[in-house]
Amino acid sequence: MTVHFPFQNSYSALPDSFFARVAPTPVAAPRLIKLNRPLAVQLGLDPDVLETPEGAEILAGKTVPAGADPIAMAYAGHQFGQFVPQLGDGRAVLLGEVIDKDGIRRDIQLKGSGPTPFSRRGDGRAALGPVLREYIVSEAMFALGIPTTRSLAAVVTGEHVIRETALPGAVLTRVASSHIRVGTFQFFAVRRDTDAIRRLADHVIARHYPEVLGAERPYHALLGGVVARQADLVARWLLVGFIHGVMNTDNSSISGETIDYGPCAFMDAYNPSQVFSSIDEMGRYAYANQPRIALWNLTRLAECLLPLFSDDQEKAVAEAQDILGAFSDTFSDAYQAGLRKKIGLFTERDGDDALIQDLLDAMAKNQADFTLTFRKLGDAAGDPAADDARAQFMDPAAFDEWARRWHERTALEPQTAAERQAAMHAVNPMFIPRNHRVEAVIQAAVNDDDYTPFEEFVMVLAKPFEGQPDYAAYADPPLPEQRVLQTFCGT
Ligand code: AMP
Ligand code: MG
Ligand code: MG
Repeated sequence: MTVHFPFQNSYSALPDSFFARVAPTPVAAPRLIKLNRPLAVQLGLDPDVLETPEGAEILAGKTVPAGADPIAMAYAGHQFGQFVPQLGDGRAVLLGEVIDKDGIRRDIQLKGSGPTPFSRRGDGRAALGPVLREYIVSEAMFALGIPTTRSLAAVVTGEHVIRETALPGAVLTRVASSHIRVGTFQFFAVRRDTDAIRRLADHVIARHYPEVLGAERPYHALLGGVVARQADLVARWLLVGFIHGVMNTDNSSISGETIDYGPCAFMDAYNPSQVFSSIDEMGRYAYANQPRIALWNLTRLAECLLPLFSDDQEKAVAEAQDILGAFSDTFSDAYQAGLRKKIGLFTERDGDDALIQDLLDAMAKNQADFTLTFRKLGDAAGDPAADDARAQFMDPAAFDEWARRWHERTALEPQTAAERQAAMHAVNPMFIPRNHRVEAVIQAAVNDDDYTPFEEFVMVLAKPFEGQPDYAAYADPPLPEQRVLQTFCGT
């Protein structure tokens, strides 16, 4: 059996300045840890063949499959507000693109596959822990219905990578609708290469925003499209308590997918200023700052597109500002609509925003678990005697006062208690990749070569909205001694 990838590469057909041709570096002893079989099928790949030793060699970068055109993509980026004119794929290689079962073009990229011309001082490798973290969290995001890159496979390389200690090396096969970032545009903008910006914009429009092709001003419409998708994406993050952790412009996808799972985390207790990342000392990427940062990143994208807008600089700036101005309403509409659903409202009335804000304020004051409060509120909608939501509050009286107003409000709608509960349970997950669980799963794999906890966790997270009573413990917040206070970029 040979592994067949039906590649149809388009990015590597762009001009040479867009990338460096580089093959993955062969590794000693690849071993497949996990194959995402449903995703393989979706991509038109044969999962049985990928699970053979030949498949593992490809997924580890030891052999390059026929039809691949391996490249490292060039990009720049603002990292924590500081501009770096050249970053690029320092430890990733794009093997190529396939058209999936829905006709969507998807990148297949190996992350951790060895040095590239963009590696700077890095070794081009990835450690097992961060590879498992990205696998778990990206697939959990997918199951939650949030646009994201996917994980097709994780392999260990049989080699060690040197971090603070020697750690097992691994490669993640990442699938994305593309790996084009705000930083890709910045790479050409800083070089004043307007032709390249136009080529890139045309590629992005054809690939991700075909609806703007017929627009009178397609590049303006492109910016509008990216603004809308990013606003929607960040709203979805907030609605599940997700903190990206490193929202640099090179980690901000043009397609509107969540990309680059480094020091990301879901919060347990609701705290708008929550930060987990060890390198985010100023709290730049704190939970509640994420909408503001997304707009900041989009403003950097708009700057890159100005030369395509108009030769008249002032006019171009005014037009860009106008388009960026839509972010705030698009975000707020998506966020408020999502919150109304989370508390089981089917309609919109005056006072709803205040009702929701008062709940969030009480949750913050009372260190209520974000996920469980909303999930258990669904139980209370079905049965007023259910008091698990109340139990999330340090001072349960704070909940009682709010719940009285909430019951008054829901009574204005005709839906039955059962209908409201079902609607709430469909948007409020029971299971999220809680940090302490992610860490425990990684420890078992790295220290004991035991992947059973990883397998079980991935399985539970694939159905986040289902009760799964046999796995109820995965819904529990950490005990005080289990609490993870910091996450690390984990290169
Ligand atoms: P990130 O913070 O993961 O978005 O990475 C920022 C930049 O550092 C990107 O250009 C990465 O390709 C590069 N990078 C991260 N880790 C490594 C590594 N181990 N070797 C080479 N480059 C790396
Ligand atoms: Mg990155
Ligand atoms: Mg990263």
